[in-house]
Amino acid sequence: MNITGSRPIDRKERLLIPREPVPKQSPEERVHNFHEVYLGYDEESVVVEATRCLQCPAPQPCTLACPMHNDIPRALWHVSQGEFFEAYQVFRETSTLSEVCGRVCPQERLCQGSCVVGAHGGDPVYIGKIEAFVADYARKNGLLRLEPAARTGRTVAIVGSGPAGLHAAEVLALRGHSVDVYEAWPKPGGLLYYGIPCFKLEKDKVVALVERIEKLGVRFICNTRINAPGQPSVDDLLAQYDAVLLAIGSGVPATMGIEGEDLPGVWKSIDFLVATNLPKSDLPPGMPVPEVKGKHVVVVGGGDTGSDCVRSAVRCGAASVTLSYRRTEAEMPGRAEDRQFAREEGIKYEFLTQPVRFIPGEDGHVAQIEMRRMKLGEPDASGRRRPVPIEGSEFIINADLVVLALGFWPDDRFVKGVPDLETKKWGEIIVDPDTGKTSRVGLWAAGDAVNGADLVVTAMAGARRAALNIDAYLKVLTEVYRAMGIEGSTSDEKAPVAA
Ligand SMILES: Cc1cc2nc3c(=O)[nH]c(=O)nc-3n(C[C@H](O)[C@H](O)[C@H](O)COP(=O)(O)OP(=O)(O)OC[C@H]3O[C@@H](n4cnc5c(N)ncnc54)[C@H](O)[C@@H]3O)c2cc1C
Repeated sequence: MNITGSRPIDRKERLLIPREPVPKQSPEERVHNFHEVYLGYDEESVVVEATRCLQCPAPQPCTLACPMHNDIPRALWHVSQGEFFEAYQVFRETSTLSEVCGRVCPQERLCQGSCVVGAHGGDPVYIGKIEAFVADYARKNGLLRLEPAARTGRTVAIVGSGPAGLHAAEVLALRGHSVDVYEAWPKPGGLLYYGIPCFKLEKDKVVALVERIEKLGVRFICNTRINAPGQPSVDDLLAQYDAVLLAIGSGVPATMGIEGEDLPGVWKSIDFLVATNLPKSDLPPGMPVPEVKGKHVVVVGGGDTGSDCVRSAVRCGAASVTLSYRRTEAEMPGRAEDRQFAREEGIKYEFLTQPVRFIPGEDGHVAQIEMRRMKLGEPDASGRRRPVPIEGSEFIINADLVVLALGFWPDDRFVKGVPDLETKKWGEIIVDPDTGKTSRVGLWAAGDAVNGADLVVTAMAGARRAALNIDAYLKVLTEVYRAMGIEGSTSDEKAPVAA
């Protein structure tokens, strides 16, 4: 299958092919459900879209711009020939989470942002949507058959099951190592499960990829928070496993430090997203669930998390939803497409505003916010113009549900509990950039725990470097043990480390 039969198609012709639109739910429809907005390509339209790829000579800008350095032109060539599984395998040479990256990567500033079709004035090739299609195609048709290498007898513990932990677990298990993944939440997946909303990434995809990794022999030990009181420590893991990877993310929510922040009805973004997007059975026991229907919701914060919160609130039947951001839209860090979708879904944006205090009603529940208007000053360290309060500009708005989406910090308490682990000022773990090695022998780190709150794809890229280096280290270790006459043991012969 290709669009010109056996006739070759040159670059000029490819440039004339208009972008194939991806069908999506209308705003009127999607505000009533949590299903993904994009419905995805079918087999015919994905072939046409992939044919738009100019097959640029190396070094291809799209491949360079992808933190995983996926060989995108080669994958898209296969798609243009109707060879969808072959295309998926090309992505898998470098990335194991195509079903995720195809959906949630900010492609407009990575692969698609570098697409040469865009430089010629056309719409960049929809690389992300094509990647998601081939991953779904392989999964739906049960085409992927993974064969791990022979067991090496070496063992690895991974702390955290987000994209960094999942990617490393799959890479290491395929190389024959026994891998245990320790996770604090009840289910594996990290922010892919407990964070990113279903309308961007439906959870069945995350469940399927966890099952795929489990089939390789990886054990997920959930409801276990390493280094917490009464739970196993990193040193316990280092004593039992040959190598340990810290993939704990950067999950401590930032706070404002203002009056009323702890009032009932003022929610932290992750708690709000988890409780509104997931069934109760997936929540830790006792986790509260907000009553959103009919409420006037105000979300504070201009990043992707803020967009995710406002759009979740709309889907829960809020009476009104407003996003307050202290700068202007030009300085917003989140994806423009998410804001466009949010506006289509009826969300109101209040720029250059910042809460001063949250005010309770007679029942003690948040009822109003005192806001202050801001103006833009000189650029700060981030290069964006600093928000400066306008004195005397305070005003009151009604809000009976507030969500704080202010960003995330690394878990300082966790890292302080690991002796001799070097970290940066705010708790990001310091690693060798080429290998992911930390300052402790036998201990690697990757993902948001190293980068600070960032992206799925950058978390995976670090995890890949760390996993490949762990694999090399374990090979050397095996040789050393062999020379000493010591056999390895697989971790499934041992119980996971218990508290
Ligand atoms: C609401 C939201 C939306 C986002 N949307 C996007 C998006 O659209 N596109 C994108 O690219 N990125 C997005 N991101 C960012 C992306 O999710 C993260 O960059 C990515 O998940 C980081 O991967 P990670 O594996 O390093 O950490 P995480 O996904 O955070 O996983 C870390 C895991 O470690 C576990 N853990 C932590 N401490 C311990 C411990 N002591 N013991 C055991 N387990 C522990 C945590 O419970 C968690 O499950 C979003 C983030 C948020 C919060």
